[in-house]
Amino acid sequence: MPFSYVLLDADNTLFNFDLAERHAVSMVLERCGVPAPGAQERFSVINKGLWLRLEKDEIAPEELRILRFRLLLQELGSSMDPRDAAAIFLKGLSESCFVLPRSLGVLQALRRRRVPTAIVTNGFSVVQRRRLALSGLAPYLDAVVISEEAGVQKPDPALVELALSGLGCKEKSQAVLVGDSLSSDMAAARNAGIAGVWYNPRRQERPKGAPFYEITDLNTLLTLIRS
Ligand SMILES: [Mg+2]
Repeated sequence: MPFSYVLLDADNTLFNFDLAERHAVSMVLERCGVPAPGAQERFSVINKGLWLRLEKDEIAPEELRILRFRLLLQELGSSMDPRDAAAIFLKGLSESCFVLPRSLGVLQALRRRRVPTAIVTNGFSVVQRRRLALSGLAPYLDAVVISEEAGVQKPDPALVELALSGLGCKEKSQAVLVGDSLSSDMAAARNAGIAGVWYNPRRQERPKGAPFYEITDLNTLLTLIRS
């Protein structure tokens, strides 16, 4: 402390993923033609559950991509092909880039301080690359590490190691991983042996004895970083 290398999660840390997901799901629901009250919430629950299984290597990304719609469409009693739904969803998602209010300012401040900064994200390459291109954040990033491209996802420390080497960081005690997820981000930081900063804007209860920092506003991150 203070840290000299910053690794940032993307979804619900720099980007409003919940909003992007709702937008993309609504495109699927429009096409499937079944009245679907509560379908957004059901998709969100199904999707989160499958991502947790992916983090534990219980399913593959390609399986997740289709299975979440097979499960949703079954519940809705829709005859739509889940592969079509998955394609519409990913296209909708890749065009849905909602940058959270603090993100640009924080990345600009890190760049002014010459702090090497990377995104480390669990997600599909085509979606994350497109959203990053739309976001205006790319010029402030020194490395972008995406799970689908790496063939491994957080909390596997390999994804963090890739980002650290992309930034030229040789001293782990100088690096920090910032993210909203305990199961992927904070676990990945611990597994890789670097500090974690839990971004917790909704002020969820902190696990007892948790070894990481906690912030509720992304700007507060700057107080932990070398100036
Ligand atoms: Mg996240």
